Amino acid sequence: MTAAIIDGKAAAAKVRADVARAVEAFVARTGRKPGLATVLVGEDPASAVYVGSKGKATAEVGMESFSHNLPADTSEAELLSLVERLNNDDRVDGILVQLPLPPQIDSNRVLAAIDPAKDVDGFHVINAGRLAVGLDAMLPCTPLGCLYLLKQLLGDLSGKDAVVIGRSNIVGKPMAMLLLGESCTVTIAHSRTRDLPDVVRRADIVVAAVGRPEMVGGDWIKPGATVIDVGINRLPPAEPGAKGKLVGDVAFDEAIEVASAVTPVPGGVGPMTIAMLMRNTLVAAHRRSGLADPQGL
Ligand code: NAD
Repeated sequence: MTAAIIDGKAAAAKVRADVARAVEAFVARTGRKPGLATVLVGEDPASAVYVGSKGKATAEVGMESFSHNLPADTSEAELLSLVERLNNDDRVDGILVQLPLPPQIDSNRVLAAIDPAKDVDGFHVINAGRLAVGLDAMLPCTPLGCLYLLKQLLGDLSGKDAVVIGRSNIVGKPMAMLLLGESCTVTIAHSRTRDLPDVVRRADIVVAAVGRPEMVGGDWIKPGATVIDVGINRLPPAEPGAKGKLVGDVAFDEAIEVASAVTPVPGGVGPMTIAMLMRNTLVAAHRRSGLADPQGL
């Protein structure tokens, strides 16, 4: 069997087009654009690229983008004061503080200071708790993007065996909660899981969010399973000065021989994350304006 390659770029383009249409309707109704504020502290090149592409995507869907770039020696008090200003700024519907933050800043304290209604990353404990008990919440973008791809491909997920590898607060745990919400039978595997290949082999749905290049071999995958690869790992360059290849947590060439569908890296989950950030900002704008959530997003 050769698996279908799940086109995350195309799926993300569709979500962004749907968001852009809904933004137009929102502007017509309220007379204002939804707004996303991004906060970058320091000059980490990868973070700067992520924040830049988030700002660009925001403008492309017709929303207002407010970018705040702070120096690496910014104090926690200064960052908290900016967050407070953004919480009180009516033009701002979503606040995204790019992680990781420099060591002098406690990221938990900063995330806790963001108004949960503007927490478009879905990292605030209020939103994590609401997700856990099945209430409406701002949902973390990467797991939400994975779920969108799975539902688009498989429709009803009810009763399926899902294995999530990784238990981080930003990917693994919320992914497991979302799959549970779809009535999957969910196993969360992690660095201490025994017989990991055997655990993964039980799964109809595998979500790998580990950060270890090509760890999940083809022989770990049940024939016909659907594989979502969240990992982004850069291999060492083949020659000095060159850029190493990007790979996921799944050995893609092996997985496509066994699975029914696999996301590639790059071009799978990555583009969905930004599309879902746009979706979340739009949803936050609706909720803050007392409007029902936009349909179909
Ligand atoms: P993390 O380091 O916070 O968590 C990794 C998890 O993997 C941990 O829970 C750990 O228990 C588990 N793990 C580590 N070694 C393991 C092993 N040998 N066997 C089984 N489990 C093991 O990472 P994260 O923030 O959840 O990110 C995971 C990966 O996803 C990274 O590669 C990251 O770059 C990528 N990521 C991609 C996107 C995207 O938009 N595509 C977004 C977020 C993260």
